[in-house]
Amino acid sequence: MSLLRTFAAALAAGVVLAVPARAEAGATGATTANPQNALAEVYNLRHFTHPNFTRIVVDIGAMREYASAETRNPGRIVVDILQARINPIVREDAIPEKCDYIDMIRIVQKSDATVRVTADVDFSRIKRYQVYHVFDPFRIVIDIYPQDKAGTGAPTPVVPVAPASGRAGTPAKKPEPAKGGYSMARQLGLGIRSIVIDPGHGGFDPGCLDGAGLQEKDLTLDISLKLRDLILASTKLEVIMTRETDILVPLETRTVVANQRRADIFVSIHINAFPDKRRMGIETFYLNFSSDPKVNELAARENFTTTKTIGEMDKIIRKIVQNSKIIESRDLAERVQGSLVKGLAAQYSDIKDLGTKGGPFWTLIGCEMPSILVEVSHISNAKEAQRLRDEAYRRQIARGIFDGLMAYVQSLGKG
Ligand SMILES: [Zn+2]
Repeated sequence: MSLLRTFAAALAAGVVLAVPARAEAGATGATTANPQNALAEVYNLRHFTHPNFTRIVVDIGAMREYASAETRNPGRIVVDILQARINPIVREDAIPEKCDYIDMIRIVQKSDATVRVTADVDFSRIKRYQVYHVFDPFRIVIDIYPQDKAGTGAPTPVVPVAPASGRAGTPAKKPEPAKGGYSMARQLGLGIRSIVIDPGHGGFDPGCLDGAGLQEKDLTLDISLKLRDLILASTKLEVIMTRETDILVPLETRTVVANQRRADIFVSIHINAFPDKRRMGIETFYLNFSSDPKVNELAARENFTTTKTIGEMDKIIRKIVQNSKIIESRDLAERVQGSLVKGLAAQYSDIKDLGTKGGPFWTLIGCEMPSILVEVSHISNAKEAQRLRDEAYRRQIARGIFDGLMAYVQSLGKG
């Protein structure tokens, strides 16, 4: 099957790559029944410049056909990914540093179902490049190799020489460092502008299961989308979702996304599960050590998809906790936990408040803003699993988290 179609011939700039979409007649009904479902999400665009080459990686939620091509004037390497859409968390362009042969890497939604990645390159400085794909998870890789420095003719400066007249010309628009952004906002009374909602798990990581078809990844996504809609409907806050469909986003990436977008609040939504099926209730975590074996057991489960070892993690947490926003995160956790429990208890009997706690959760590590992880109910408890199946219950959970977030936002407004 022709997964990869490479166009060796150079295309004139602006020519659309006319590659037929994959889901034609004869394809499985699942892909044609609902075109939206057939679109895979492009959820990350990464690049690294090594001494000998630059690697661009496009992470995609599912295997997709793609086509690569190049134009010489202007110099471009173009990869079109079919039946795909860009997750809004992906930054649209990037300028590789320490790399004089790539001007810019861009990603755009070329058409309804095609995502285009373009590297603006100087072909006179490139020896060769290759476009290929790797599985588990599926990603497309573009490796670009520069000419050997010794082999090139007249030396060209890597960085344009700064104008002699001091500060007059500083065209290089570097983003300011993100650190301290939130605290500064708080000190200045600027308040909260954006919230990251992180639906736990996704893709081949289902999270916890009830054995009867209920999956944590579906519930967290549903609650997260409900929460997003509530925020967008009644506030002017920006909402950034770490995923909007059933895809796997590495835990580390979720935090990086929040930091890159300079979000002000990070909320990760999960469903609890315990071997003791009688255990039920709601608990909210912020990043810290824990001496509670139950908390560490839960964190170990939630950290499942990361490859980092627990030992490595302990070291990192010790380093990070000193600089993290523990007090603000705990404040946020208490407000969300309080509203969530209060809202549910007004409508349901037997709502257990398990409180707020510190815990070593990977997804909270490295967040530069107040961040919490909410375990909204137990899938392992028959009563709560039953309730989780009910949309009204999930809506009330979203409402409870929303009320807590708003209480936190308003508390900042008072300065
Ligand atoms: Zn989880």
